[in-house]
Amino acid sequence: TIGMLTLDVNGDLAGACTTSGMAYKLRGRVGDSPVIGAGLYVDPEIGAATATGMGEEVIRTVGSFLIVELMRQGKSPEEACREGVHRILKKNAGKTDFQIGFIALNKNGETGGYCIHPSFSYRQYDAQGHRNTPVNSYLKS
Ligand code: ASP
Repeated sequence: TIGMLTLDVNGDLAGACTTSGMAYKLRGRVGDSPVIGAGLYVDPEIGAATATGMGEEVIRTVGSFLIVELMRQGKSPEEACREGVHRILKKNAGKTDFQIGFIALNKNGETGGYCIHPSFSYRQYDAQGHRNTPVNSYLKS
């Protein structure tokens, strides 16, 4: 899955995601990416979030919506993503044999991300298209 979140010079937020789904998926499976609130959610007043990884787990927690709601309650994007990952881990009794990654962006332009395994990273681009440092924040056992 590739998720993108943007904030333009007028302060307008937008998001998009695209996916090939999970490898060896069952015919007809619908993952989290096309489900608004799960794989992607944008609230123009608060922020935006998008997910990658095991879609079934993201759907079960309405993950991207959850992260935007956590930002509404005052959490930073990174704190919100971390909490989203930990909610999923809790539902799975701490099992970590799958990947979940979230990124988030708030109305102030602050970004954050968190994932279970370090295979996931995200990059930030400024208004001129310059790439900032890749960020890779993940669960450390
Ligand atoms: N989230 C996608 C899905 O479950 C898979 C992925 O991120 O690679 O369909």
